[in-house]
Amino acid sequence: MDLSKVVNELRQNFKNGVMQGIESRLHQLQRLNDLLDENEELILEALYKDLHKCKLESNVMELLQVRKEIGHCFQNLDEWMSPTKVSPDLLNVLNHCEIRAEPKGVVLIISPWNYPVNLLLSPLAGALAAGNVVVLKPSEVAPNVCKVFESLIPRYLDEKCVQLVSGGVLETTALLKLRFDHIFFTGAPSVAKIVMRAASEHLTPVTLELGGKCPAIIDETCDFDTISKRIVWGKFCNSGQTCLAVDYILCIKKCQDALVNSLKKAIVKFYGEDPKGSKSYGRIINERHFERVCNLINSSKVVFGGNFDKSNLYISPTILSNVTADDSIMSEEIFGPLLPILCIDKIDEAIDFVNSREKPLALYVFSTNSSVVEKILKQTSSGGVCVNDALVHGAVPNLPFGGIGQSGMGAYHGKESFDVFSHKKSCLLKNQKFEFMNDIRYPPYDENWFVI
Ligand code: NAD
Repeated sequence: MDLSKVVNELRQNFKNGVMQGIESRLHQLQRLNDLLDENEELILEALYKDLHKCKLESNVMELLQVRKEIGHCFQNLDEWMSPTKVSPDLLNVLNHCEIRAEPKGVVLIISPWNYPVNLLLSPLAGALAAGNVVVLKPSEVAPNVCKVFESLIPRYLDEKCVQLVSGGVLETTALLKLRFDHIFFTGAPSVAKIVMRAASEHLTPVTLELGGKCPAIIDETCDFDTISKRIVWGKFCNSGQTCLAVDYILCIKKCQDALVNSLKKAIVKFYGEDPKGSKSYGRIINERHFERVCNLINSSKVVFGGNFDKSNLYISPTILSNVTADDSIMSEEIFGPLLPILCIDKIDEAIDFVNSREKPLALYVFSTNSSVVEKILKQTSSGGVCVNDALVHGAVPNLPFGGIGQSGMGAYHGKESFDVFSHKKSCLLKNQKFEFMNDIRYPPYDENWFVI
């Protein structure tokens, strides 16, 4: 594939106005919706092959999220595309000031393997709604999903608007040499640096949706059975391979035993005594990640699970207790079904711990004490926060989704997606009347005239 030809042609199509009007944008969004509706089984099958994702989980965590984004665009695009009138300053009282959202142009979307449908198509919906043309680069690490989209994207979306480029590091490196008007990257911080470096060559703006270690702070006021169900669901769906998954727990010491008991109960309730046989439990994406996650298990700290089977890429839901900051499991994003618990004596200690590390993509607080919740919200920084639940804040279209610091840069979802792929053009519209009012600004200047 001649990548520079692909990008040049897309740019020409953009210049020719292929996505200018609302009708063409809505049409492409409708086609994206049709793609999902008419190929649901095919997509679900590919997700099962790549990640052992069960149908319900795939529907809720992947397809539904894209459909929600598309639906939100259908409902609001007209309003989003309308210029926003703003009040002029005193010098311009007789003039009209407005902000127009204009599409950026050719957008590159690079996506990861863990939610290979949602994280490819949700940003695509935003980019199309904003009137851009798009190059999609799905992850080669989820090969079945990638293959499905290689065949579906050209069948459903106008080739003048969207092109899919498959491949891995080689192809992405070649793409990154080309000039784009925006790069939207979801993946690891180490790769984000490569993307940002390449983007700087063309001064291309970037959105970086990254990962990291998302903490959950738990105090003694919780109903442990309730919060354990929420944590276990948020941690072990997709076998822990979720950027928003609870990475580790910071728990008041005297609650650790009660919490562990409740977590065990929830795991058994959800996945049975032997999660390997559960249709609701996923698998690790490949051998490399399997080895990486297994190496993080310190068997002396395992209080539940700790089983694995390489032939099946299976790692059981695993809880580790009395973990310390020095344990290797705390040195990197786990991205697998291991849940370490670290003990603290008081909430301030948890706040200090979180603040001494990179800013996480999500911070979870479990407490019924509103002053504890407020204190943590005020004294920590993270991409987002969810109080008394896990993951679900990421599915609210009106909440911007993105990180801060090492967990990312920029945000999307809902209107935020439209904004991230738009340039906000400031427009001052004057007429040619009242020219006498301008006399004061023209030379020769009258030094006695002084305006504050
Ligand atoms: P990754 O960074 O390895 O890969 C992402 C994309 O970059 C893929 O399309 C891949 O082909 C490409 N790529 C990989 N190495 C490259 C290189 N050297 N040069 C150019 N391109 C390269 O990430 P991953 O393993 O697919 O996903 C896991 C990471 O993504 C985790 O850190 C996770 O937290 C993060 N993530 C973040 C979000 C979010 O929304 N914030 C969502 C999912 C995953």
